[in-house]
Amino acid sequence: MFKRSIQVFFLLAISHFTKAQTFIQAYQDRANKVSQANVKTYLQEFEALGIKRTGTTQNTNAFNWIKNKYTSFGYATANFQEHSWTANGVSSKNLIVTKTGTLYPNKFVIVCGHFDSINGPGTNDNGSGTSIILELARILKDVPTDYSIKFIHFSGEEQGLLGSSRYVSQIVNGTSPKMDIKVVVNLDQVGGLATKSNTKIYCDKDQSAPNSNNAAAALVVQELANCTTLYSPLGVDFDPAESTDYVPFQQNGEIITGFWEYEGGYNNPFVHTANDLYVNMDPVYVYNVGKAAVGAIQHFAVASTTTLAVEDISTSKILESVEFYPNPAKNILNLKIADPSKAFTFEITDMSGSQILINKTNSNQIDISHLKPGIYMGTVQMENEKISKKIIIE
Ligand SMILES: [Zn+2]
Repeated sequence: MFKRSIQVFFLLAISHFTKAQTFIQAYQDRANKVSQANVKTYLQEFEALGIKRTGTTQNTNAFNWIKNKYTSFGYATANFQEHSWTANGVSSKNLIVTKTGTLYPNKFVIVCGHFDSINGPGTNDNGSGTSIILELARILKDVPTDYSIKFIHFSGEEQGLLGSSRYVSQIVNGTSPKMDIKVVVNLDQVGGLATKSNTKIYCDKDQSAPNSNNAAAALVVQELANCTTLYSPLGVDFDPAESTDYVPFQQNGEIITGFWEYEGGYNNPFVHTANDLYVNMDPVYVYNVGKAAVGAIQHFAVASTTTLAVEDISTSKILESVEFYPNPAKNILNLKIADPSKAFTFEITDMSGSQILINKTNSNQIDISHLKPGIYMGTVQMENEKISKKIIIE
């Protein structure tokens, strides 16, 4: 089957919206935290887990591998839900990891993709989507979002959306009122082809019955496309939403969209074969789709637009180890900074907060000979983060 492509002229389309999305630097900074090295590791580890046919030991092993990744990112038992189901004679589990929103804890942005495979290890279909969801969860773990996010790894997709359809019937509709879902963003087969340039991605547009959710889905797919061009180097095109785990949500009236590889797609010769392997796909494409996804999920979940001190671990660690010596000091104060290549600003304030001295020269030796004896605060600022420590001047 060939997937039709619907040409949409991006600039014309965006002009219809009164609230055009604007670029947010904090969103780009977090999108830039997608790691090519992590993507490679996830894809290769996923591949090594073998054929993850639903109901097999390999499928269970993949489930546990994903769960262990979340644990390594710092997610706790309270964040996990294991949804066991049986259908068509096979039993398996979906993994749901929830990050609670600050303003709307009971309204959910769902980002999902399947981890089961058939015939081969499924490194593209769908190790690629699985890897991106892991990077999303890692990067957004400590980022405040207005809406709650559910990271969902479905099983049983290849046998007919078994895991996602049970999730909708048993969990989404299993409460009264049913779960309140803002949007579902699915990632399936976003690995591209090793032999192609892979510069574009399909954004999936809901054109199916029921039609009650189609207008809202049209807005959402445009926002997904906007985020892709804002936060990744990829271009976009649109295709009809079909044949993957958002379908049961769509049929339930939810607002859905997703990413699907542009080159390859239904013509990808490797998917659903033993050759759906790392060597036949494009891990740089997965990295770029990951950046688009981090931008988009921040947009949909309304992530904090300010950079928090705890977020940038590398800078935080450097700042944590900053030392001022000698302390008490006289005439010269020395700054010990772990990474001398990083630019920083140093300032001294008195205990009422008035600035006494500022030094922007990246110097580790500060002349304090003109300061009166007393207690001061020294502050090192690096990028957007600061650390302050007390200094006694004799
Ligand atoms: Zn798939």
